Amino acid sequence: MCNKAPANRRLVQTGAPREKLRLPVRWGLFEHPNVGWVMIDTGYMPAALSAPDRSLGLRIYSVALRAQSHEAGQPEVILARLGLGVADVAMVIVTHFHADHVAGLHSFVNARFVASGAAIAAVQARSYLGNMKRGVFGELVPADFKARMVAIEDLAQAEAAGLQGGDIFGDGTVLAIPLAGHAEGHFGLLFSDQPRPFLYGVDPQWLMAAVTQNAPLGYPARLIFDDYAAGLVSVARLRDFMAQGGDLALCHDPAKMPYDGDA
Ligand SMILES: [Zn+2]
Repeated sequence: MCNKAPANRRLVQTGAPREKLRLPVRWGLFEHPNVGWVMIDTGYMPAALSAPDRSLGLRIYSVALRAQSHEAGQPEVILARLGLGVADVAMVIVTHFHADHVAGLHSFVNARFVASGAAIAAVQARSYLGNMKRGVFGELVPADFKARMVAIEDLAQAEAAGLQGGDIFGDGTVLAIPLAGHAEGHFGLLFSDQPRPFLYGVDPQWLMAAVTQNAPLGYPARLIFDDYAAGLVSVARLRDFMAQGGDLALCHDPAKMPYDGDA
């Protein structure tokens, strides 16, 4: 269910020993009884990142991250196992616009999108270089994205497990929980109907230890943060959520997370 890129532990958690970590890039898949198959982000989808007409910036990004394809974890492979293809995905929830979360958006030709309206507006208003400095590449976002999008800001608000957010399906099962800091409009997903409330927090920090120990984010990972102070507030909310018995998963922590698949 992921690709892995090497990273030095110090990049993501200050005070940690200098060692090579293989950071996964998680993406999610679930079936909603009314809507159908729903993806959470797309992961790297290396085919998209290696397209011959990609921009120079995206080439540099791919090389810098040394994104290595982990075939078994690719969305196409997991979908095929279920007898599905990318065209069967009805919705892609885009937690934020960093390249490792949206690389495969063009493949999901029949999907509606759920995303932060403020985030897509900011991405579309900025120059190519302005986006690149933030780890965002406009070319990865389909031209008709906005026409196919429901903005989380327009969703009815609901509350569960001490958190408030937009009710994505109108049935209270999955809430978009704003977690400011990491990127404009960054949000997590609260699955309130699980035995224990489960929050996929995406990228408030990259390592779970950094959340539980309140470790400051190291450089240079900190530089791409949109709003570091807001990020600390988000992490404190996640710690409260866990203290009250909630399960938390992050996108990039290499340890096994709740609801990880077997890819
Ligand atoms: Zn990110």
